[in-house]
Amino acid sequence: MNKIIFYNTLSRKKEEFAPTKKGEVGLYTCGPTVYNFAHIGNLRAYIFEDILRRVLEYNGYKVRHVMNITDVGHLTGDRDMGEDKLEKGAKREGKTAWEIAEFYTKAFLADMRKLNIKAPSDKYMPRATDYIAEQIELVKILEKKGFTYKISDGIYYNTSKFKDYTKLNHKDLETLKEGARVEKNVEKKNATDFALWKFSPANTKRQMEWDSPWGIGFPGWHIECSAMSAALLGNQLDIHCGGIDHIDVHHTNEIAQSEAATGKPFFNYWMHGAFLNIEGGKKMAKSEENFLTLENAFLKKGIDPLVYRFAVLQTHYRKPMEYSEKIMLNAAKGFEHLKNQVRELGKIKNEQLKIKDKYKGMFIKAINDDLNMPRALAVTQEMLKSDLSKPDKLAVILDFDKVFGLNLSEAGKKSELPKNIQELVNKRYKARENKNWEESDRLREEIEKLGYIVEDIKNETRIYKK
Ligand code: AMP
Ligand code: ZN
Repeated sequence: MNKIIFYNTLSRKKEEFAPTKKGEVGLYTCGPTVYNFAHIGNLRAYIFEDILRRVLEYNGYKVRHVMNITDVGHLTGDRDMGEDKLEKGAKREGKTAWEIAEFYTKAFLADMRKLNIKAPSDKYMPRATDYIAEQIELVKILEKKGFTYKISDGIYYNTSKFKDYTKLNHKDLETLKEGARVEKNVEKKNATDFALWKFSPANTKRQMEWDSPWGIGFPGWHIECSAMSAALLGNQLDIHCGGIDHIDVHHTNEIAQSEAATGKPFFNYWMHGAFLNIEGGKKMAKSEENFLTLENAFLKKGIDPLVYRFAVLQTHYRKPMEYSEKIMLNAAKGFEHLKNQVRELGKIKNEQLKIKDKYKGMFIKAINDDLNMPRALAVTQEMLKSDLSKPDKLAVILDFDKVFGLNLSEAGKKSELPKNIQELVNKRYKARENKNWEESDRLREEIEKLGYIVEDIKNETRIYKK
């Protein structure tokens, strides 16, 4: 196996990856709360996690990937206050909370397909509502070990009982408490304490509620990930991921619960993706109402959603990424250029083509260095400009695409243009890239004389037969 280096949030260092079981990886990625469409910021996190999974698979690991679906317990304030997001969604749309969960889970799966994000099988995409018994069991263990207490609205975790509470976020406990105080729950013993089980309000019947040793109610948000990762990954607690906003509260609380219950370390590597920002550095968030879905940012505008995947690949996952129409149009152009380069290589032959070691080595070095996809894309360009033969280049790029996930084999297949036309199109592409508009117009005329229509739509060139 090749050496893989990951930046581990737990140690704040780049570390060599070593799984608990040879050749296999247990990967847990916190999934969506299904009360609305995912926004493209959320989707950036899932693309990063998909790249991680693909890199591990490319290195020969068998990856057991679990992604939960949060369909209960996530309140509008991440710290156990406010309304349940699912019940809120149900009111908004005049549906039941169960219907809301079903609808937005399907919408999420459709977004994943459009972005070529590999979905775990049904078993490994557990819904929180399917694991209520396991969550109750875990709370019982914590109760037995003295980590819980009861207040009027639920059973809470006493964070002062867990000695390493700040080990993931590396923050000063007092600063963390300060941040948590906004919530103003006077009954809690410590501001950082969080709900394990919440009671249904006395005079309202919730749509989603269950009986428990403590009374009718529903699980807190964090307990589902502790319970489901244990149920589905067992001892293979290798890598746990999410966006950076999960570090301070959600993941910190998952660690506190699981380690208090088992007495063992909960996941060895923690990896977090940076935000997608908008309007010059503002986090894209549902609560800010500045969010865009895949539908309104790409599909409605006739832009291939894989343009977004390509744009995400161009930024390292730990660096902030900015969204603007202009940035996406540039990405569209870059992606179209890459597809044209692939088209130019011709069709894949039946015989097994040898992958050239030099570029594969450089590629592996890039992707295994904390998922350096911008460098992997640069290696790809270097390979395409090299003196390798066209069939070799094609074999290499299609091999790399196992990690990129850009459907580049389709780019090759779709080209049904005669060779002479394709060559003119490629020349015109280069001319446009060099802003040589005169040459580009001349080539357009030449192509049109040969019976084809050239249409430039938002930096993408489409060619049709007249
Ligand atoms: P949520 O559905 O709110 O639990 O978020 C789903 C995932 O998206 C989590 O991993 C978040 O950390 C991540 N996330 C939320 N907002 C952004 C953003 N603007 N950019 C990147 N990731 C985000
Ligand atoms: Zn989680």
